Formats: sequence, C-alpha cells, structure tokens
Amino acid sequence: MKAMAVVPGKPKSIHLADLPEPSVDDVPDGRGVLVEVLRVGVDGTDKEINDAEYGDAPEGYDFLVTGHESFGRVLEVGPNVRSLEPGDYVVATVRRPGSSIYDKIGTYDMTTDETYFERGINLRHGYLTERYVDDPEYIVKVPAALKDVGVLLEPTSVAEKGIEQVYEIQRRLKVWRPERAAVVGAGTLGLLATLILRLRGLEVTTLARTEPPTLNSELVEALGARYVSTRRTPLKEAAEEYGPFDIIFEATGVSSVAFESMEALGKNGVLLLTGISGGDRTVEVPGDHIMLGFVLGNKVAVGSVNANRIYFERGVQDMALAEAQYPGWLGRLLTHPVQGLESYEEMIRLLTKEKSAIKVFVEVNGHR
Ligand code: BGC
Ligand code: ZN
Repeated sequence: MKAMAVVPGKPKSIHLADLPEPSVDDVPDGRGVLVEVLRVGVDGTDKEINDAEYGDAPEGYDFLVTGHESFGRVLEVGPNVRSLEPGDYVVATVRRPGSSIYDKIGTYDMTTDETYFERGINLRHGYLTERYVDDPEYIVKVPAALKDVGVLLEPTSVAEKGIEQVYEIQRRLKVWRPERAAVVGAGTLGLLATLILRLRGLEVTTLARTEPPTLNSELVEALGARYVSTRRTPLKEAAEEYGPFDIIFEATGVSSVAFESMEALGKNGVLLLTGISGGDRTVEVPGDHIMLGFVLGNKVAVGSVNANRIYFERGVQDMALAEAQYPGWLGRLLTHPVQGLESYEEMIRLLTKEKSAIKVFVEVNGHR
C-alpha cells in the first residue's frame, strides 16, 4: 500500500513509501476500525517535518508516514465496535496516550510526558496513505452533510480546544461576559478561530500582515468580523481603536507577536498562544510595562496544543452550525487540492511557495 513519507533527520526527503496493508485485527479485543483515507490536509507542521526540524519514525521503521489532518470512510469494523459502521465518514485524532496521569484519563493532549506520540508527526505513522486502522476511541464520526469540509476538522479541533481553555480559565471571574476578541494570524487556524468566536457571538478583529483585499480578508469579513492589516495598524493601535480585547488568540507562531499581544490584552483578559514557534529567535520586550499590565489587570497567558476527542466532537458541532449560519464558508478554505499520493512534490511546492493557499490538501482516493 502506498504512503507519503519522510526520512526523519534528512531534509526534503518526502517520497512514496510502501506500507503493509492494515487489518481490523491489528487492534486488540475486536476493536479495530479500518478506514479508507479520502483526503488529508497539510500545514506548517508537515513543512517543518519535511525540513527535518522535527518528527521521528515509529519503532522498526526508518521513515515516517506524514499527514495528521485526515478524513476518510469506514471500510470494516471489529466485532466489539458499536459506535461506528462501514460507510461512516470519520476523522481520526492525532495524539496517542503516553503514561502521565493526563494520558490515563483521555486527556492525552495535556500530557506531561517528555516524549509524545502523534500520528503523522512523531513516532506514529500518519494518514497520507490508502488505509489505516485504529481504536474507535480515536475516531470521530462526521455527518455525511459535512463530507466536503470534514478534512478541516483537525485544525478546527485545535482552535476549539484553545477557546475552551479560555472559558475554563475565566470561571475564576464568577461572571465573565467577553465582548471583543482579537485573532492574530489569518491562516487556516486564525480563520477557524475567527469563525468559532463569531459563533459564540463575539465582536472579532482578525489581524494579519497582508493588506486587503485577499481571500483571507474576504473570509474574515464574510463572518461579520473586522480584518486589519498590521502593516497599516499595528496590534497595539488596533487594541486602542477596537479593544479592549477580552481574548487574544495568537495563531502566527511568531514569538514577538506573543509579547506584543501581552501588551495589547485588556483587563481580566486571556491571551491564548497556539502558534508553534519552531525557531530560536530572541526578542527584546518592554518587560516592566508588560508585567505591570498583567498584575494590575489580572491578565492570563496560556499555551494550548493538540486536541482530544471531546474537541473534535465540539468541532463537528461548530462546523454544522457554521454551515447553517455561514453556508459555504468552510469550503472556501479548501483552496488547493492535489491529486493522489504520487503528487508529493506538488503538495510541498504549494505548501511552501503558494502565498494564496489557505488549505492545501491531498485527494487520496477520488471516488466517494
Ligand atoms: C497539530 C497538532 C499537534 C501539533 C504539535 C499541529 O500541527 O495540528 O495536533 O499537536 O502540531 O505537534
Ligand atoms: Zn496541524
């Protein structure tokens, strides 16, 4: 069976590999779910894996099958699977449990283990292949009405988890009525965060460098949110004009932006950091000013990574609500399809060079 893989540690090693055919019996206790992969989305993490910035191969392999944003259809289930049946559309979660207490209660996205297992990212093969098998605990059903946009569920789950963290943290306030949010970054994650915050009824300002009009700025405005180019209006000015921000969702992965956001955050506000800063940049910041603002304003900064199945389920609900409230909006994110696993070069080219791309994805299996 074909698979798109990299050789960890070797930059630009993406190639077509051969994987043994999976079977429902690979999962113990009759709990196997065999899934045919239909589509897989790619993002900055895949780019960094192909640049050998991280990612390790599973034991016994010298390659890692990439792709963590899956969408597929169940082919076969083991005798002890009740929640899924052949024909169901599904998305699989990414992380698999380690050994910390958080892993033991299903919150593997909160692991404190040094080594973490993520399908398509670290120590576990991903979904850029023809079929995979897993336990139903890690497979989330997607209604057929969402089949054209289901491939966006994994990035949606990451935004859902982050926003849920914010609301959980703010239970400290006894009463919290957030009115204004800023989202920094208008890529897939920033756009999905804008959507979720709009669905929660907030006034949202989404900031990115590029001057409008772009497809990204149009998508922001189609949600009734405000698009601001930081070239014209830096974040701090935007906070004076459109704030105070009760929530700032950081989705750029640029560390200087994280500190700028600390300055721009409103009183009692929460800064949510989700962007992954791969490099080792050093930034100079107005430390006294930021610290004073945080203490006198009772502010919070929190990091959030990955998502467990609860956030995938919430993502399904919000995607359905999005289709009702902003019909067709999600589909507009799917800008750059690539045909077949053989097109790995084209996929990487679009991922690294195509400035207008929002979501690049592989059509693994044409017939649906
Ligand atoms: C994925 C997450 C993952 C993170 C860190 C992101 O691209 O969407 O599921 O936890 O990378 O590896
Ligand atoms: Zn990702």
